[in-house]
Amino acid sequence: MPEKLIFEISREGRKGYTLPKNDVPEMSPAASIPAKLLRNKAAELPEVSENEVVRHFVRLSNMNYHIDKGFYPLGSCTMKYNPKVNEKMSSLPGNADIHPMEPPEAVQGALELMYNLSNMLAEIAGLTAVSLQPAAGAQGELTGIMLIRKYHESKGKVRSKILVPDSAHGTNPASVAISGYKSVSIKSNPNGTVDIEDLKKHLDDEVAGMMLTNPNTLGIFETQIAEICRLVHDVGGLMYMDGANLNAIVGLVRPGDMGFDVVHINLHKTFSTPHGGGGPGSGPVAVNDKLRDFLPVPVIEKKGDRFVMEFDRPKSIGKIHAFFGNFGMLVRAYTYILSHGPDGLRGNSMNALINANYLLNKLRGAFVLPYSARPMHEFVLSADLQKERGVKTLDIAKRILDYGYHAPTIYFPLIVHEALMIEPTETETKETLDAFADALLRIDEEIRTNPEVVRSAPSTAPVRRLDDAYAARNVNVCFKE
Ligand SMILES: *Cc1c(COP(=O)(O)O)cnc(C)c1O
Repeated sequence: MPEKLIFEISREGRKGYTLPKNDVPEMSPAASIPAKLLRNKAAELPEVSENEVVRHFVRLSNMNYHIDKGFYPLGSCTMKYNPKVNEKMSSLPGNADIHPMEPPEAVQGALELMYNLSNMLAEIAGLTAVSLQPAAGAQGELTGIMLIRKYHESKGKVRSKILVPDSAHGTNPASVAISGYKSVSIKSNPNGTVDIEDLKKHLDDEVAGMMLTNPNTLGIFETQIAEICRLVHDVGGLMYMDGANLNAIVGLVRPGDMGFDVVHINLHKTFSTPHGGGGPGSGPVAVNDKLRDFLPVPVIEKKGDRFVMEFDRPKSIGKIHAFFGNFGMLVRAYTYILSHGPDGLRGNSMNALINANYLLNKLRGAFVLPYSARPMHEFVLSADLQKERGVKTLDIAKRILDYGYHAPTIYFPLIVHEALMIEPTETETKETLDAFADALLRIDEEIRTNPEVVRSAPSTAPVRRLDDAYAARNVNVCFKE
């Protein structure tokens, strides 16, 4: 192991703090905490000095790869640079130190920020109401499908299925299944967009709705979106947009104008805010008037000049998150939106498209481009040619680490063999894009001249190849001596 666990560094009795002598009467925990909530033995926390803690985590952070260290072209995840002004705003004491149980009168500023952010997101989405409650994109999806279910319930029939294109993110069919619907896969056509004929075959009065990502996970804009929305609406279904790719279209086109009834927005992708390693996240949903009465409670409302958390919404699906614990993400997104303004946001979308198309043009000679439509903010290549020469996409991704970059997303979307999904984002310079393209072209050359160096990569990372499938199936995060 290159770094010991903090439990292994621990020595009994070592402390990282010195406190002044207690000058108030000691109160036993039992006097204020109900017995059933009290521990019967002390928490087994590591005992370390302050500098050991600092050095341990600095060493770990140096081994890690992050957006402040270098280029991170992880497709679909939108790893754009996070402006530091967002951090400054979210760490102001008035934002960072509030407690979820404080009464609304004491946190008017926070509620005003949430109210304003909701209005801005509604405007960006072209829809009329927003809930900031979902804590991630996937939870936004779940919320959206629950709203659709409630809508059909209010019409007297819940219906049984939701249509999902075969290029969709895995969270889409998962959200459908958790909400009690059957997920029905719709084929993509040779252009990489929804096959309208296949869609028509599945349309009937059992369709509760359709989930669509636009631009889709190939980075391609669904040009027939108006017709798709019309067809689904004609059978009484609703249209859900997976808005994880909204960063390609902010200020250019709005989900509501395309015909969508509900969209989730990944604040941690489109509006920067740091993410990775499973969190933190924020996945607000925006809806139109068909769905607004069903939004989760509490809804932030303005009454006179006061901001309130409104719980009296009889048709609501209820709470889907105990508190707004991800408030810091809301502050970051709000700061990002205000500091860019409408023109800045639109400019970011356009630069994201330019960067992706520039990078694609540098790489398309060496790698197969399975869908040739001009992409938006990301593109998907196939390493089929390289595989014929004995090297898999996984090997290429590992070799990219030796060149000092994070790997792209691989083996997704599922409809592309040996997929390499690359999203440069708008925050990278031409020099960075050129250097990354050169690295991929050099790896392609290595596959001709010395494939073993690629197959055995990485050789410079802190660890070599880990068995990630084993790790995912046998999660073990508990330290036992
Ligand atoms: C990231 C992503 C999601 C899920 O968002 P999380 O915040 O990770 O839960 C869903 N769909 C697409 C297309 C995505 O890229």
